[in-house]
Amino acid sequence: MNCLFCKIISGEIPSKKVFENDMVYAFRDIEPQAPEHVVIVPKAHIPSANDINEENIAYVSAVWAAIPEIAKSLGIDQKGYRVVNNCGEDGGQTVGHLHFHLMGGRSFGWPAG
Ligand code: 5GP
Ligand code: ZN
Repeated sequence: MNCLFCKIISGEIPSKKVFENDMVYAFRDIEPQAPEHVVIVPKAHIPSANDINEENIAYVSAVWAAIPEIAKSLGIDQKGYRVVNNCGEDGGQTVGHLHFHLMGGRSFGWPAG
């Protein structure tokens, strides 16, 4: 399958790993939008949030279970952080493999633009 994030998970494309377990892989974003910016992906090819279902929801749980640990390892847990999922064209999704952006080290505005 010609999927960028599947290739990153397999190691075919190098990445700066920050966390890994049997269901989740996390790596530094190549174009960081904050001082700390990590992309967290399930180790299953789920194309987008539209494809989350009862069968694969465990991967999403595993991503969220990893978030506090990753945030702590980045030193952003106390001041806080933002987690973003972009879905589809209007959501700004550019890679067709479900992923969550974990960003911190600066303050984020709300409402989002
Ligand atoms: P999206 O726009 O789909 O929500 O997020 C995709 C993210 O993947 C972007 O923030 C982009 O910078 C990041 N990205 C795209 N290609 C690569 C790559 O080859 N390596 C890494 N580490 N990040 C990438
Ligand atoms: Zn994939």
